[in-house]
Amino acid sequence: MLRPSAKVLPEHARVHNRALVLQTLYRSGRQSRADVARGTGLTRVTVSDLVAELMADGLVVELGPREAAPSESVQRGKPAILLDIDRAAFHILGVDLGGDSAFRGALLDLGGRILHSSEVALEHATGAAAVDRVVDLVERLIEQATTPILGIGVGSPGVVDDSGTVLSAPNLSWSDEALQTRLSERFGLPVVVMNDANAAVLAEHSFGDAAADMMLVKVGHGVGSGLLLGGVQFFGSHSAAGEIGHVVVDPSGEACGCGRSGCLETWLAAPRLAARLKATTTSGARDAVLHDAGHRLGVVLAPIAGALDLAEIVLSGPVGYFGDALVAATAHTLAERTITGAGLALRVSELGDDIVLRGAAAAVLSKQLGFS
Ligand SMILES: [Zn+2]
Repeated sequence: MLRPSAKVLPEHARVHNRALVLQTLYRSGRQSRADVARGTGLTRVTVSDLVAELMADGLVVELGPREAAPSESVQRGKPAILLDIDRAAFHILGVDLGGDSAFRGALLDLGGRILHSSEVALEHATGAAAVDRVVDLVERLIEQATTPILGIGVGSPGVVDDSGTVLSAPNLSWSDEALQTRLSERFGLPVVVMNDANAAVLAEHSFGDAAADMMLVKVGHGVGSGLLLGGVQFFGSHSAAGEIGHVVVDPSGEACGCGRSGCLETWLAAPRLAARLKATTTSGARDAVLHDAGHRLGVVLAPIAGALDLAEIVLSGPVGYFGDALVAATAHTLAERTITGAGLALRVSELGDDIVLRGAAAAVLSKQLGFS
């Protein structure tokens, strides 16, 4: 589970309840100890105890007494002290390896706000040379940190297993690259490496108000997606859930890098779409290219949305492609091909280019502190 939602007894209770208190403050902010007890179902004694521990760790701060409403001013007793998470207590280092020409990284606060960002040019580096660029970027960001770093989160293209090993990332010529182990040994910090679309799902979950049953489609150099089902991330039996880019939409389509023809990527990947749009001369022709790409996306998504009864599909990618023409065509095809299509929300993520950085940070938050 990404978010604790109820108390447990008794073996793991303390760790779980600590995360539950943090989760409540993270989502609701500015609450008294009594509010937290009510919200979590924990006793006031337990809450006071956990808050004392969290304050000693620097994670929770007292903001001061709650201002009493005029009608309460005659009540006796001290006003309750409001608590909140100290979002400046730690930095999180987030890295996005999905760029065409550069790796991007940032220092974020616990609220997911970007404080400082940096990038290293990729210059077509692959294999070990590409790993060196990641190390350079992380080193550079660590030098900029002014508070302790909670951990390093990395969103990588390709298939990544649950130990943070990149099983395959053809664009970087990585196979079985144990990036998580390598970075944690090198920097002595907790590290989470995950697929970039799965990181983007976490960003929508933590910072973008995602529904509990959602799919995020990420368009970039390729096309990938991530799934959140019943509020839990779904990775599949080969860590490759959401790999929709190489689903064949039309075998008579263009040749794809994977050896097949007519994969979704040949219509929708950013470089392919850019090339097609460049060849158009009228706005009508431009709309037709976007409509075609949107329709193909709808063809791939319809059976998934139908089978899983998703609440929403979120699109993320280069601004400008996801204009009205593409999104309208996808929505139209989904409505046409599924019985739930009319109730299925299709929207473009508002998290923009920072979605993977912020999702990688959310992964660290979830792994190290148990909330998101
Ligand atoms: Zn393909």
